[in-house]
Amino acid sequence: MRLLLVEDDRLLAEGLTSQLEKAGFSVDITHTAKEAVVLGKQEDYKAGVLDLGLPDGNGLDVLRKWRSSKVTFPVLILTARGDWQDKVNGLKAGADDYLAKPFQTEELIARLNAIMRRSEGRVHSTVKVGRFELDENRQCLQIEDGTEHSLTGTEFRLLRCLMGRPGHIFSKEQLMEQLYNLNESPNENIIEAYIRRLRKLVGAETIATRRGQGYLFNDSV
Ligand code: CA
Repeated sequence: MRLLLVEDDRLLAEGLTSQLEKAGFSVDITHTAKEAVVLGKQEDYKAGVLDLGLPDGNGLDVLRKWRSSKVTFPVLILTARGDWQDKVNGLKAGADDYLAKPFQTEELIARLNAIMRRSEGRVHSTVKVGRFELDENRQCLQIEDGTEHSLTGTEFRLLRCLMGRPGHIFSKEQLMEQLYNLNESPNENIIEAYIRRLRKLVGAETIATRRGQGYLFNDSV
């Protein structure tokens, strides 16, 4: 799941990124309002974390620009402790949740997963498709026969993407976008390698290849 982190405190941003990556996110960081507006409109993010105090502008203006340009991914704003006006203005401007600094990263991750669930119309922290259930808190895959497999960050992100829309064909480019951030440029063959690994867990017929189009998670197997 690709996530945009807008935070001008570089130390905080770097620390958060490594923990968010462990939790299955692929993170793009920007330190400025100007770049945040552009990235939010141009990239396919599943969620955003937006600091309100940015060196070149207010995070609320970034949010308003996104929302007026039909950018719909869920956004969590970072506010100063006790500043209830920021929280209210943020929610009014289209934020989905807020967190006051300082905060525990575990809480941030739990809230992000919650707003993404809501945006996908889910209530539970698992994604269930056919015989398979993906647990996003524990990053593991449970199968109806009782077996359980823990997944690496990349395996989890790829499976999360495919199982999030069963039957939908994802091109390699779309999968790459969800797996890697803007600074990484791995070879597209890596997708094939990960698909092979996942097929060993779920069975070859469950992740189907559509020649020249991409891959889909087959919910009818
Ligand atoms: Ca700031």
